[in-house]
Amino acid sequence: MIMDHFSYKNGTLFCEKVSLKEIAQDVGTPFYCYSSAHLKEQFLAYKRGFGSRKHLICFAVKSNSNLAVLACLGALGAGADIVSGGELYRALKAGIPANRIVYSGVGKTEEEMAYALESGIAMFNVESMEEMKLLSNVAKKMNTQAPIAFRVNPDVDPKTHPYISTGLKENKFGLFMDQALDAYNMAYKDPHLLIRGIDCHIGSQIVEIEPFIHAFKRLKRLIAKIEENGIRLSFIDLGGGLGISYREETPPTPENYISAITKEAGDLSQTIIVEPGRSICGNAGVLVTKILYTKENDTKKFYIVDAGMNDLGRPSLYDAYHEIRPVEHVDSQKVQEADVVGPICETGDFLARSRPLPELESGALLAVLSAGAYGFTMSSNYNSRPRVPEVMVSEDKFYVVRKRESWKDLVALESIPQGGLC
Ligand SMILES: *Cc1c(COP(=O)(O)O)cnc(C)c1O
Repeated sequence: MIMDHFSYKNGTLFCEKVSLKEIAQDVGTPFYCYSSAHLKEQFLAYKRGFGSRKHLICFAVKSNSNLAVLACLGALGAGADIVSGGELYRALKAGIPANRIVYSGVGKTEEEMAYALESGIAMFNVESMEEMKLLSNVAKKMNTQAPIAFRVNPDVDPKTHPYISTGLKENKFGLFMDQALDAYNMAYKDPHLLIRGIDCHIGSQIVEIEPFIHAFKRLKRLIAKIEENGIRLSFIDLGGGLGISYREETPPTPENYISAITKEAGDLSQTIIVEPGRSICGNAGVLVTKILYTKENDTKKFYIVDAGMNDLGRPSLYDAYHEIRPVEHVDSQKVQEADVVGPICETGDFLARSRPLPELESGALLAVLSAGAYGFTMSSNYNSRPRVPEVMVSEDKFYVVRKRESWKDLVALESIPQGGLC
């Protein structure tokens, strides 16, 4: 298995010491299930990589923002990388101290800036000159100083899917290297900004060390120039992006990746920040779904399941591959290709296409693997489907850490104008 804490016991798939079938009987299908042991292991692997060097591991909340996940990582010492006021609210609610929180994103609003300033976050990763000006104004109004880093775009090809590559010149993220020096000089003169660091993030699902080191080398040249102007940096934030194995990818382990980074850091004295998301939670989670119907014509076999693109969007959105395993082992040796499709009224609603799978009947449970990152967080209510529950396993116990939404929840915020409008 590509997932450490998921394995078959007497023919049934378990998460740690809990059978996924047992959870399904309790909470129904579909549901997400996360292994707390995997989260912990991945986080500690990052920590080990740093050894005694000063560091801060800011978990990318957008990859999995469940409070129980954040609380688990926060208790181990994680900070948070947030991209919205809502994510800040979650991180604080989960007990992550504000001084371990960094705020990324190209479109921060004035209201979000004020909330983050008031909370006392470690720094804003500023992505444009206009953002810098607005942040300075907000800080001025609040009679304070905003701690900042500039996100620079090192123009490095991370060799990943174009939708998740962010560090190329044509991407919308960050300031170009040649603009960054001016930005630092301007911010340095601004009494409402406090320069704390420098930041970059080149993309996601990167399975080699080389692009990270390449970006770091470029950043180091820029840091030297910035410091020549008398500006001191406390933080070097290298972003997230380390990939995981969905299929046959062989990414470096977090420990090896961080070791390579600390080696490259040499005798730099700054605290190194990383913002991992997927590499911590991706292989901690599965989506369990039930086959509602099977159908077949002369060219195709379909397994129609109760989870759709609104529950797990990655296959439709990025044509991403997720392994699929039956929760209960089937004896039949007969393997045939099938499309695993959801109930949504869209042709793009699939979890897998032309996938060799054993012969299964309606009612059978399937586990969609490697679904712990960008799974639940990207889910929606499309087709008025209540979002599915999230379950966290710890050894032989499981906890529902987010309940299944109800039909009532779907309309809770809506109203029909008095007398009707039509
Ligand atoms: C998405 C994102 C991350 C996390 O990326 P992963 O590939 O999940 O590690 C980190 N930092 C920033 C700025 C991001 O946008």
